Amino acid sequence: MENIAELKKFLSTPRYISIISHRNPDGDAIGSSLGLYHFLNKFGHSVRVMFPSEYPSGFEWMPDAQKILIYDIEPEDVKATLERSDAVFCLDFNALDRVDKSGEIIHGLDTVKVLIDHHIDPEPFADYQLSDTTASSTCELIYRFICQYEEKELLDEPIASCLYTGIVTDTGSFRFSTSPRLFKVVADLIELGVDDYTIQDKIFNTLSEKQLRLLGHCLARRMEILPEFQAGIITLNKRDYENYDIQRGDTEGIVNYLLKIKNVKVAAFITEQPTIVKISLRSKGDFSVQEIASKHFKGGGHRNASGGYSFKSLGWVVNRLKEVLPEYKEQLLQM
Ligand code: 5GP
Ligand code: MN
Repeated sequence: MENIAELKKFLSTPRYISIISHRNPDGDAIGSSLGLYHFLNKFGHSVRVMFPSEYPSGFEWMPDAQKILIYDIEPEDVKATLERSDAVFCLDFNALDRVDKSGEIIHGLDTVKVLIDHHIDPEPFADYQLSDTTASSTCELIYRFICQYEEKELLDEPIASCLYTGIVTDTGSFRFSTSPRLFKVVADLIELGVDDYTIQDKIFNTLSEKQLRLLGHCLARRMEILPEFQAGIITLNKRDYENYDIQRGDTEGIVNYLLKIKNVKVAAFITEQPTIVKISLRSKGDFSVQEIASKHFKGGGHRNASGGYSFKSLGWVVNRLKEVLPEYKEQLLQM
């Protein structure tokens, strides 16, 4: 499939379409998936959105969010839906192992595969690919996709609200990866009727008391600052998970607090989960955490937001990071 015209031709009759995004879906994963879902529905296709794991409750308000299939909850439904599909759209991830078991299923499917994503080095598994690492978000690319599909007039408020959600979350409320091009897109979305104040309120002011107390615990008792490397680390161990009854999503955003400290340029949030230790990395400016994540923690991501994991202990991961940081000391201090 050489170009979008061929894809459009393939989709000129009603098809079964699956849209899938990554584990622990964030606003961009959900917004791009539901935005594309509402767009493709307008052509009479039978469209399903699916994720490997559940999405945070702050996104439950999104139009048709309750119809999303979750592999962790309904694996058989996800498998059957994928196997019946004529086309699978893979959004906001660059390699099939980011969608776990579903990735194995997709790998074996003889269907049209489309990748729309803004992570570097996408695996070449798609028949049609829209990949741009300079895009703020996959939602920005869905907007571009709809324009290139020459159906911009089909954009409406529900689609625009979905796309706005992913843009506002992936840019940290318009603090990172912005561009004149992005603000023009956003202006268009607002003109379509997006209520930006209410969306930001629904997404960002939804902590439970438990989550705010957990944040307090992290900052008061689990934070280590390494001034010599302009770095900060927050860890959570198994006992913390029990004591604070931490569920998926409860730790979202905690890593960013480290970057609020003047002179902290690299932040790590390291958590002891049932089978793996997960590391989330964030950085400021030109300093890239992508290399640290891919070289040392089997992961990857973006320059300023990456992640990875290890099967070793929590202590091992913390020590490994502390061993690695000196390699970057000069680069960090020059910033
Ligand atoms: P988070 O720290 O929020 O889990 O992830 C931040 C970013 O890092 C994600 O958007 C994703 O691009 C990347 N990332 C996180 N975990 C992994 C991982 O295990 N493998 C890879 N390849 N990328 C990851
Ligand atoms: Mn994204």
